[in-house]
Amino acid sequence: MADRYLRLTGTAPGRFLTRRLGLPQPAALTRWSAERPTLDGGLLHLTAGRSALDLAPALARTGIGPAGSGSTAAVVLDATGVRDVEALAEVHAALHPVLRSVASSGRVVVLGAPLDPADHHQAAAQQALEGFTRSLGKEIGRGRTVNLVRLTDAAAAESTLRFLLSPKSAYVSGQVIEVGAAREPATEEPTPADPDRPLSGRTALVTGAARGIGEAVAETLARDGARVVVLDVPQAEQDARRVAERLGGTALALDMTAADAGARIAEALPDGLDVLIHNAGITRDRRLVNMPAERWISVLEVNLASVLRTTDALLKEGTLRRGGRIVATASIAGIAGNAGQTNYGASKAGVVGLVRSLAPRALDEHGVTVNAVAPGFIETKMTAAVPLFIREAGRRMNSLAQGGLPADVAETTAWLAHPASGAVNGQVVRVCGQSLLGA
Ligand code: NAD
Repeated sequence: MADRYLRLTGTAPGRFLTRRLGLPQPAALTRWSAERPTLDGGLLHLTAGRSALDLAPALARTGIGPAGSGSTAAVVLDATGVRDVEALAEVHAALHPVLRSVASSGRVVVLGAPLDPADHHQAAAQQALEGFTRSLGKEIGRGRTVNLVRLTDAAAAESTLRFLLSPKSAYVSGQVIEVGAAREPATEEPTPADPDRPLSGRTALVTGAARGIGEAVAETLARDGARVVVLDVPQAEQDARRVAERLGGTALALDMTAADAGARIAEALPDGLDVLIHNAGITRDRRLVNMPAERWISVLEVNLASVLRTTDALLKEGTLRRGGRIVATASIAGIAGNAGQTNYGASKAGVVGLVRSLAPRALDEHGVTVNAVAPGFIETKMTAAVPLFIREAGRRMNSLAQGGLPADVAETTAWLAHPASGAVNGQVVRVCGQSLLGA
């Protein structure tokens, strides 16, 4: 599983040699740890066009002070007021002089406005920000990330800004995230008493959590204060128990494809559920010409049909409480497609469809948000089983030139599950280091 190339380029002779050979130069990413909870350096707040946003309170709570003479950890460019092509020049004028000063593993966050269907000049200029963001992400290097947030209300976007402007978003780049307006009544999503444990008092169920990404998600949600339920198939019960014990949670041995899986979860959680993470997933790769029907059916069943069935059941029975969160797991294979994965690509694209359609209704009818994470190449047992050459290609073919870690998907999930993320709904956020596929 270890990325030996990343280790090699972390040494002076290795860096010298690989540079001479014109090989990729992955930077060691700064990730969240209790000892290093914020980015090192200051924040630069710039504006292009005339903005009506009051960002100061939200930015003040990111924990990064204003950039002074020291290094710049992050740049926030408020381009919500860019309404025409002329104003786009201000994007260049604002960022061009400061980019060199942004530290390694630093952040550039561009803020945009929703596209105005009644003003095609505004829409052109705002859409231009997407091409800009994605291109800058591909060229900026040194482990720095670039993302675009479309918003109307700075307060509603606070949890998103905190995430993007922290080490927790190390492997999220080239993304466009839409944040809606704050919802009433605000009492549904009370501000957590302890900002370091935003999920305290909440119950989170993670499917497929006996190992891999699911285990990391359970761990991160437990860190954030949730009581976690570690669900996995009966064959993995021992591992699930081990994870649950370590996190002070409970294990639930259940095959999500069981017809009554929703009812069994509801029975195991008589007090209800706040966070539902659909992480369980399988691959059964073959080119379509060689693929027996069982391989097709099993992948569609685990990755999509069971997700639809249990989501419906848990919403209908009211097991998922108001203010709840659903985070499903898609994949870049469901966005870009992948040879040998017609079944998997179909199932993960189905997850995207589910999220887009259900999100507005689930919020209106149940007060529950529905989002997806779409991992790219993540270092797990699943990807360790991929043949070496394909594995190396998968690892390097992204703007950060390395694979992500389960913790990267877990941190993204925790942001979506945060009580203050109620305005983030219907989003599919890739955790892929800006994969060159489908980016
Ligand atoms: P993994 O194989 O390491 O873990 C998956 C877990 O799901 C296992 O513990 C397994 O027992 C459990 N599971 C499988 N079928 C189940 C069922 N019917 N009911 C309950 N549990 C079940 O995989 P991973 O790499 O940790 O991937 C987790 C998720 O992320 C999957 O949905 C996967 O498709 C997705 N994903 C992973 C990557 C990657 O690079 N690793 C990339 C994109 C998407």
